Amino acid sequence: MELWYTEKQTQHLGITCQVKETLCTKMTAFQELAILDTLQFGKMLVLDGMVQTTVEDEFIYHEMITHVPLATHPNPQKVLVIGGGDGGTIKQIIKHREVSRAVLVEIDEEVVTTCREHLPEISGGSLDDPRVEVIFTDGLEFVKTNKSEFDVILVDSTEPVGPAVGLFTQEFYQNIFDALKPEGIMVAQTESPFYNRDLIRSVTQRIKKVFPLAHMYLASIPTYPSGLWSFTLGSKVHDPLKVQEFKSLDTRYYSPEIHRSSFVLPGFVKELMEGK
Ligand code: SAM
Repeated sequence: MELWYTEKQTQHLGITCQVKETLCTKMTAFQELAILDTLQFGKMLVLDGMVQTTVEDEFIYHEMITHVPLATHPNPQKVLVIGGGDGGTIKQIIKHREVSRAVLVEIDEEVVTTCREHLPEISGGSLDDPRVEVIFTDGLEFVKTNKSEFDVILVDSTEPVGPAVGLFTQEFYQNIFDALKPEGIMVAQTESPFYNRDLIRSVTQRIKKVFPLAHMYLASIPTYPSGLWSFTLGSKVHDPLKVQEFKSLDTRYYSPEIHRSSFVLPGFVKELMEGK
């Protein structure tokens, strides 16, 4: 018998894919976790019924959340990731030779241990790199206790439900600003411009209130709702649109051309940025 999994992406629309095997399902202290092996996207991490990442398309999200800010910062030595327990973002961060320390702050230890077991291709062994430290705690609390500490902070969070709700608030962005060094940069994944318009309007206004420079950029990610995904960058000094020199990186989506073009926004997305 064929087995199909549907993520209900909105109240009226779902994405459905055929499942070869259910590798794991469990209830952690924070969320319902499943690893499915699908015919279209390979192995997939699902939290609370929402696809987080898949072996086939993870590179797009992880390269874009990482390399845009790390190419914008002239010397990113200390990088913090909030969330990101699958390890895909850390795998991209350690491609940058200047990075001497990468800290992953994940609230749910079981995401890390289960992904290590079932999805080793996503972290690619990066969590064992000597430059990497993994801390299991709430990112909201962690940023409050670190002042002027990091060059880059990446908010690789789940959707704004459960423990991630606070990761989209003005107070959190202010704490991130304070946890960054004077030339610091942050990027947060900020959902779909089609389906999360209110969220994007309010998050953009919050980041603009805190950071002197705020820009949105986009990427095409097949398994995320609508396929069009947004990231919002806040910077104290460095402008991602003025990067002159790019390092050579081993990537499959990100490139200097994609870096520049990802900031070119369709009219309806610009309007969201303007709060319309
Ligand atoms: N790429 C993904 C996406 O956009 O769907 C995000 C993937 S990553 C698995 C998200 C992680 O954020 C989850 O493992 C979740 O446990 C973690 N998380 C949620 N709220 C958190 C918080 N307050 N502090 C730290 N980690 C958090």
